[in-house]
Amino acid sequence: MAVTWHYVLKFIITGDAAVGKSSLLVRLTDQRFLSNPDPTLGVEFGSKLIEIPEEGKVVKLQCWDTAGTESFRSITRSYYRGAAGCLLVYDVTSRSSFTNAQSWLADVREHADPHLTCILVGNKVDLCEEGTEGTSSHKRREVPTEEAERWAEKEGLLFVEASAKSGRNVDSAFEAASRDILNKIKRGA
Ligand code: GDP
Repeated sequence: MAVTWHYVLKFIITGDAAVGKSSLLVRLTDQRFLSNPDPTLGVEFGSKLIEIPEEGKVVKLQCWDTAGTESFRSITRSYYRGAAGCLLVYDVTSRSSFTNAQSWLADVREHADPHLTCILVGNKVDLCEEGTEGTSSHKRREVPTEEAERWAEKEGLLFVEASAKSGRNVDSAFEAASRDILNKIKRGA
């Protein structure tokens, strides 16, 4: 029988409420965006096959979202168990969501496997794109790219800015993290 995938990788998506975690998951698995998602119906789980051509491998992503529980800080050890990758999400128009990413990272480091690959994702870049100033779809950027880049480098995280709304860099965030994980597997880490 033909191989449909070579690896199954568990990903978790963490970060403050309303930064766009469910929206990134829906964009990845369903290629759509909901501008008014029901906050009580957080998407919990999504799965997608992606190809990593450089490695000649097909990876099945199994992604878990905190589905609203982040406000209760009730994320348990079982959520992190077996995760190979983590999307640590903040909103580029919310300074507090970036500041809080530090405590989310501390949580990940405390509970997850030490080899876990973590990618910092600055979401909602569509809101502060040039040309949108003065329109209702514009919001001021509160986290400069360079600052997030520096912090990611210091903490050993991959980094990307993305938009669940436009789809920009959503697939590539998961691909970059998966590539890193496959490299670790190859090196026997
Ligand atoms: P979660 O609580 O982190 O899962 O966040 P949601 O995915 O529920 O998103 C919170 C709000 O932000 C919703 O109104 C989304 O439509 C909106 N949102 C999410 N991602 C984006 C994005 O990339 N751009 C814009 N403009 N809005 C977004």
